[in-house]
Amino acid sequence: MSLAYSRIVVLTGAGISAESGISTFRDSNGLWENHSIEEVASPEGFQRNPEKVLEFYNLRRAQLLDPQIQPNPAHQALGRFAQEVRQQGGQFTLISQNVDDLHQRAGNRDVISMHGQLLSALCSQSGRARPWSGPLNLKDVCDCCDPPQQLRPDIVWFGEVPYHLEACYQALSEADLFVALGTSGQVYPAAGFTELASQAGATTVEINLEPTSRSFDAGYYGPASIKVPEFLEKILAGKA
Ligand code: NAD
Repeated sequence: MSLAYSRIVVLTGAGISAESGISTFRDSNGLWENHSIEEVASPEGFQRNPEKVLEFYNLRRAQLLDPQIQPNPAHQALGRFAQEVRQQGGQFTLISQNVDDLHQRAGNRDVISMHGQLLSALCSQSGRARPWSGPLNLKDVCDCCDPPQQLRPDIVWFGEVPYHLEACYQALSEADLFVALGTSGQVYPAAGFTELASQAGATTVEINLEPTSRSFDAGYYGPASIKVPEFLEKILAGKA
């Protein structure tokens, strides 16, 4: 069997984790669990009220570690797909805007987490990240600076530069298939990835509950847990 596409880039957003029980942003009118972006996802919000921001991410982290929150069939299908593509000699790059670790738990260990991770804390001075699974409080300071500095959630907030952009741009420039999955396409620079992939000659595909305002060569609409396994099967069978 030979692959119809051999340099595949998938960009995921909050929609892929919705059926695992983690709320998205846009579906709740641009609010994240009833909080505005400015309040809990900006450096200014953290400066204004660090306790509130730390508590917000503490609740998100605790929710993620609830045994009821598990990867769904969309995460699992992507984990198997990555393995299959690589076994057949293809390149597969998974870029996620999500801060949960459901892709990793479903077997995608080398995911590019461009907006950071809930299960990580960052030294606000040195920028050094460290694994973090419990609550993060004002008294938590780093061991990398003298004097020790405040730790903050390892989340890329609005106005900050996403992680690993060079690796993203490199993969996009080589892609022959680009899939935007469960993302509203409103958060830059990820929102511009479709256009970059298209300029590089890739076929562009959207999988979402409903069409977004971006333009794609093809779209598959419905719940990710159904549409993603279906679409990936088609790709492997050379039928999409
Ligand atoms: P978004 O909330 O802006 O958009 C979610 C998209 O997913 C929408 O277009 C919606 O139609 C679609 N969707 C919802 N349920 C779906 C389903 N079952 N199947 C398929 N599609 C579905 O998300 P975004 O574009 O990722 O941008 C939000 C930002 O918020 C990101 O930067 C992310 O870091 C952060 N965020 C992350 C999480 C998470 O890690 N799970 C959750 C909320 C917000």
